[in-house]
Amino acid sequence: MSISKNLQAIKSILPDHVNLVAVSKTKPISELMEAYDAGQRIFGENKIQEMAQKYEHMPKDIQWHMIGHVQRNKVKYMAEFVSLIHGVDSFKLLKEINKQAQKYDRVINCLLQIKIAEEESKFGMSKKDASTLLQSEEFSELQHINVIGLMGMATFTDDMAQVEGEFKFLKSTFEEFKIINPELETISMGMSGDYKLAIDCGSTMIRVGSSIFGARNYN
Ligand SMILES: *Cc1c(COP(=O)(O)O)cnc(C)c1O
Repeated sequence: MSISKNLQAIKSILPDHVNLVAVSKTKPISELMEAYDAGQRIFGENKIQEMAQKYEHMPKDIQWHMIGHVQRNKVKYMAEFVSLIHGVDSFKLLKEINKQAQKYDRVINCLLQIKIAEEESKFGMSKKDASTLLQSEEFSELQHINVIGLMGMATFTDDMAQVEGEFKFLKSTFEEFKIINPELETISMGMSGDYKLAIDCGSTMIRVGSSIFGARNYN
């Protein structure tokens, strides 16, 4: 199927409250433009330099989401234009984002990444550390970031019962945090292999790559 057909197929089953991030990492601008021409305006990348390059060459009404692990020394390359950073996993990183956003007189939206998978390889904060951060005084002093929700990545497994358990954990964590931080609105969870399950579990933002653009080639 073509990129626009793939997009159409996914959008046709999305509830109104769920946003679609088209994950375009490793893909050439020509393929991103196919998605753009089909109406897609939110793109997700996992490498800051690759995202900055695509930003420069593409229409300026695109919302660029950083979905990968963020190194603090690279925040400066996206601070001018990034619209949402999904993978915030420490206060130090949040502070650096705040500092770089201030240089452009911006407020940058962020999600706290919660470690929901059992795998050691996945990044993210514990629920406890995230809760402490959200209630800390030093957090409330940051004027140039806005934490609007949580992000999580489930274990890479065919065991859908395990994935469902992890999604439900993120949803319940979100609901708990929302009592104290009512401004939270976004739950970013679900990828090509599990986005339907993620939506059933309360996702409001899915990050879909291969089901739109086809398999990635990392060479
Ligand atoms: C690559 C990536 C995705 C998209 O994965 P697909 O399986 O191709 O849909 C989603 N989220 C993150 C954080 C990713 O790195």
